[in-house]
Amino acid sequence: KFNTNVGQHILKNPGVAEAIVQKANLKPSDVVLEVGPGTGNLTIRILEKAKKVIAVELDPRMAAEVTKRVQGKPEQKRLEVLLGDVIKTELPPFDVCISNTPYQISSPLVFKLLALPNPPRTSILMFQREFALRLTARPGDALYCRLSVNAQFWAKITHIMKVGKNNFKPPPQVESSVVRIEPKMGTERPGVSWDEWDGMLRICFVRKNRTMRASWLGTKEVLAMVERNYRVWCAMNNVAVDDTIVGEEDDMDVDGGGPAEEEEWGGIMDVDEDGDETPAFFKEEAERIEKEHGGKTKSKKKKTRVAELVREKIRKVLEDKTELADKRAGKCDENDFLKLLYAFNEEGIHFA
Ligand code: SAM
Repeated sequence: KFNTNVGQHILKNPGVAEAIVQKANLKPSDVVLEVGPGTGNLTIRILEKAKKVIAVELDPRMAAEVTKRVQGKPEQKRLEVLLGDVIKTELPPFDVCISNTPYQISSPLVFKLLALPNPPRTSILMFQREFALRLTARPGDALYCRLSVNAQFWAKITHIMKVGKNNFKPPPQVESSVVRIEPKMGTERPGVSWDEWDGMLRICFVRKNRTMRASWLGTKEVLAMVERNYRVWCAMNNVAVDDTIVGEEDDMDVDGGGPAEEEEWGGIMDVDEDGDETPAFFKEEAERIEKEHGGKTKSKKKKTRVAELVREKIRKVLEDKTELADKRAGKCDENDFLKLLYAFNEEGIHFA
């Protein structure tokens, strides 16, 4: 009866539903967005505490079910059901988000909520346990990854409750957890461009247990990409690029392509078992280089002065300016990454 392909695992334990709504600390004036109301187990409890519920549901059968549940009751007027995919829906303003989230959309939902012009004061969201642990992981934790850094860049995230799989019908394959997400406001939010930040993190986290030196200087693809970005910056700032050939490229252990095994976190982040990430652009870059150099042949690329300059700039950033060369991304905190981005930018190296 339930379509688990779209994450239909209905919460059957009323105690858990009660606890989720209670954790939201709702005010009588609140408008609440509920993602995936299903049969309405959370919806009816939210309606007891809030002014209005906007429920976005993908499955018309479920939308009908939740609508029926309040039909003819006073709550009916305070429930608005929007039929569609929440990720593609333009959301009206709301104060709080509550969701027993369909797991396929975990990552896009988090970033959609945080990128809203007026993000919700609080979001109480049920996720797969591992996703919840990634969201809240701190530097040095096994599950610390680009998702952790990015999500915590925007918000304070706390793990508030574990929920076993038997609280659902049908039970999902993995355990779940409820997290609270509170967006950082104003000055709490670092003043850097999101695209630059994310672009730099993609490189740092291709192999999170490698030293920064190895990640940045030991991979042809990374060097080639930084060089291309630097050339763009030079063109925009009227800086001459010295293309004099000074020799042949050194041999290096090319291992930038990353792992073959990937796990999908809803399309935004690809994470493998070690928490390493393989962004699509990285593979494209590797393919482009391969093509340019005649496939997997051993033919060597000519080294230019600008390539040397870029190398030296990266070395300076890692060794002199930030002293992060021997640190691993998996151990770096937000301040380390900020320091790194400022230092790269100072050298004319950008990631967006
Ligand atoms: N809230 C109910 C509960 O706790 O019992 C049901 C939760 S169930 C885990 C997830 C619900 O989200 C399902 O009803 C499913 O149809 C719906 N859903 C799946 N993908 C969706 C999407 N992209 N946008 C909106 N709703 C979606």
